[in-house]
Amino acid sequence: QQDTTFKVAVRAVAGGSVLVSFEDETPLAQSNAMRRDFVANVSHELKTPLTALTSFIETLKGPARSDPAAQARFLQVMGEEAERMNRLISDLLSLSRVEAEERVRPTAIVDLVPLVRSVVLGLSRLTEAAEIGVRIEAPQTAEVRGDADQLRQVLVNLLENAIKYSGAGADVTITIGVPRYEAGLRSDGVALIVRDSGPGIDPQHLPRLTERFYRVDAHRSREQGGTGLGLAIVKHIVNRHRGRIRIASEPGEGLEVKILLPC
Ligand code: ADP
Repeated sequence: QQDTTFKVAVRAVAGGSVLVSFEDETPLAQSNAMRRDFVANVSHELKTPLTALTSFIETLKGPARSDPAAQARFLQVMGEEAERMNRLISDLLSLSRVEAEERVRPTAIVDLVPLVRSVVLGLSRLTEAAEIGVRIEAPQTAEVRGDADQLRQVLVNLLENAIKYSGAGADVTITIGVPRYEAGLRSDGVALIVRDSGPGIDPQHLPRLTERFYRVDAHRSREQGGTGLGLAIVKHIVNRHRGRIRIASEPGEGLEVKILLPC
């Protein structure tokens, strides 16, 4: 086949032989491999809560049949597992929608300032429960061409992450920066920055953070109700808006996500 690229590896094996392997690296082979990984990940993520549900059903039918206290406890956990599956399916649907729309640039005018205020208000029960203070630094108005629902989802995902991973008592600052006009030249686009004072992460993870299902601490993410898709959805929405995303963090110094949207 023309235009096929192979990765060739040569390895010495036992018995003095040499093993030569060819790995197909054409874009088609790569996208097939990515699709297989994705399907494997989704199946695993769905199978975990489903296995838990099946085993709780067995326990309810058997050992816990005449134990109302145990039944109540198991039903509570079953509800949480069903909720986890629900969240995963919603995130998968969001991801496939934004991927499908990625080539079409949104045209409506969206003011980010009231949008940020409304998202912060909408999540105030969560921030209050976690005793997290949210500060907004914004001008009067900051208009971009965009899709209001998707930009809302970006903000919700970033703020939910800051709440989930920062821990009680942390601070979150959301800054909106409008372009400056200097010497008649306009700098960048509208900047949307979400910064938290949480534990942050090791910078080695930063390049992979927006990959689907990539988690720094899988146990922590699952415990917090994470699906591992939040930042992948954010990245696709930003791409669709022809924007750029930069994530910075140092352990102990919190995490900052900066999004630049053309205006
Ligand atoms: P999840 O559903 O697991 O939160 P995301 O795609 O939103 O998935 O985030 C990927 C991973 O990035 C998370 O599992 C977490 O390890 C890390 N992460 C995201 N936001 C933060 C943050 N504000 N502070 C520390 N770690 C974070």
